[in-house]
Amino acid sequence: MDVAFFASWIEEAARTVSSDRERLTALDAAIGDADHGTNLDRGFTAVAHALGTADPATPGALLTLVGTTLIRKVGGASGPLYGTFFRETGKALGDDAEVSVARLHTALQAGLAGVRALGSAAEGDKTMVDALAPAVRALEEAVRDGGDPADPTDAAEAIGAAAAAARTGAESTIPLQARKGRASYLGPRSVGHEDPGAASTALILAALHAVATR
Ligand code: ADP
Ligand code: MG
Ligand code: MG
Repeated sequence: MDVAFFASWIEEAARTVSSDRERLTALDAAIGDADHGTNLDRGFTAVAHALGTADPATPGALLTLVGTTLIRKVGGASGPLYGTFFRETGKALGDDAEVSVARLHTALQAGLAGVRALGSAAEGDKTMVDALAPAVRALEEAVRDGGDPADPTDAAEAIGAAAAAARTGAESTIPLQARKGRASYLGPRSVGHEDPGAASTALILAALHAVATR
């Protein structure tokens, strides 16, 4: 996976965040302040502009730019959290021009560690971590168990497992009571709704899978 692949991922993520903006905002209306879709759409629009202007040379530089742009442009909880996720993932990729799925896994692991360090949410707290952590785990298992890491079909399959785990993880937030973020202010009234940040994480990983199967 080269820099063009990662550019396509982010383009696809921006497209799907934009088309699901109202759904994400409606999820946030139920247990937050009804801005998650608009926050992310604004962020990814700025990201698309930044990538068009800077034209980064490596996957690491590209994802780092995505992260710094999201931190700069998105207020609220999700901007710094997603910003840190992409920045740490990018930093972990270093200057590599070509990224294997195993390397992608360790980089996403670093991104997840950044989110955890910043937000101190554990799994089960009803946040984006409930989608991201199982996705990274599924990718790790897929890398360990199967396939030729250099084979694009095997890589797409591994990424598909990660995307499926993120979607299942997002759905798993529905019965949970929020213990982090704005939704935690609702206490037991946060039960019965999907966490908006977990839902957007599932979209971002679905975008990665879509690009990997092209
Ligand atoms: P805000 O809550 O500031 O309006 P957003 O609506 O854009 O920000 O994002 C809310 C999402 O951020 C939540 O659905 C949750 O997934 C995520 N989130 C909030 N706090 C944390 C945290 N401490 N750790 C991880 N994720 C968090
Ligand atoms: Mg919000
Ligand atoms: Mg807000």
